[in-house]
Amino acid sequence: MAKADLHIHTTASDGHSTPQQIIKNAKKHNLDVISITDHDTIRGYRKAVTAAEETDITLLSGVEITADFNGRECHLLAYCFDPDHSVITQLLAQHYRSRLERGKWIVNELTKKGLDIDIEEVKAEANGSNIGRPHIASVLIDKGYVASFKEAFIRYLSDQSLGSIYNEYYSHHKVIEQVKEAGGAIVVAHPGNLYSEDELEELVEAGIDGIEFIHPSHDYDRQKQIEAFAEKHNLLKTGGSDFHGGDKEYQKFFGVVTINTKYVHRLIRLTDQRKALKV
Ligand code: AMP
Ligand code: ZN
Ligand code: FE
Ligand code: FE
Repeated sequence: MAKADLHIHTTASDGHSTPQQIIKNAKKHNLDVISITDHDTIRGYRKAVTAAEETDITLLSGVEITADFNGRECHLLAYCFDPDHSVITQLLAQHYRSRLERGKWIVNELTKKGLDIDIEEVKAEANGSNIGRPHIASVLIDKGYVASFKEAFIRYLSDQSLGSIYNEYYSHHKVIEQVKEAGGAIVVAHPGNLYSEDELEELVEAGIDGIEFIHPSHDYDRQKQIEAFAEKHNLLKTGGSDFHGGDKEYQKFFGVVTINTKYVHRLIRLTDQRKALKV
């Protein structure tokens, strides 16, 4: 069976492997198709392009976009878009700024709780990459406030402990529209238990093309439910390991949690048609 992993993070966002290391490991695990899907940036994808050209691995353009879904953050995966399209450039520039402002907001919330932490420390930890909560978690570990990522999230960084997190991300409507404008497909990431059936229906009505059914957070029953939902609504089905490397969640699943490339062929067919309609 030809295998694909369509959900991978690198050092361009909060992953621990460089894009080049990802290509090398993908080769080692006999993956045929991969997509690098960093949070709100394609810098990792761009760096992987040259490395992938030296192998027989097919690298699809990808990004995991955070969208504002009725006041709550949701992760949408975009694939096979034109990475040079101006709508993508503008969207990612806005989300880069949003991540910085959101990071400042989170740091300020932690300061109010009495923690001594500064946004400059978080920026240093991110080292030019898109800022995410894992970078803040690293600073909290370094400063001895918590012993692990898990503890950082439980005590300080989870949606529950922060309440409604301030953000300036585009709405799900705008993200869906713009990814399609750039010839791409847009997929709900790791639905798990994050959405009610009604909310998933709302995303379908908003124009979602697909849903991630294979993900390490999905048990067998949930996977089957999501598959049934996808079939009912004629959606693309995608999946991947959500690999971040280091000691993060899901590190064990690279090369293990994969999908059959038949699902990738459907994705490519749809986006080829979409691009053909634009010219
Ligand atoms: P952000 O991009 O700032 O929303 O951070 C999201 C990332 O934080 C996810 O992709 C995970 O890598 C990590 N994360 C989210 N929730 C948890 C958690 N409960 N425990 C550990 N890591 C988490
Ligand atoms: Zn992440
Ligand atoms: Fe995600
Ligand atoms: Fe992810």
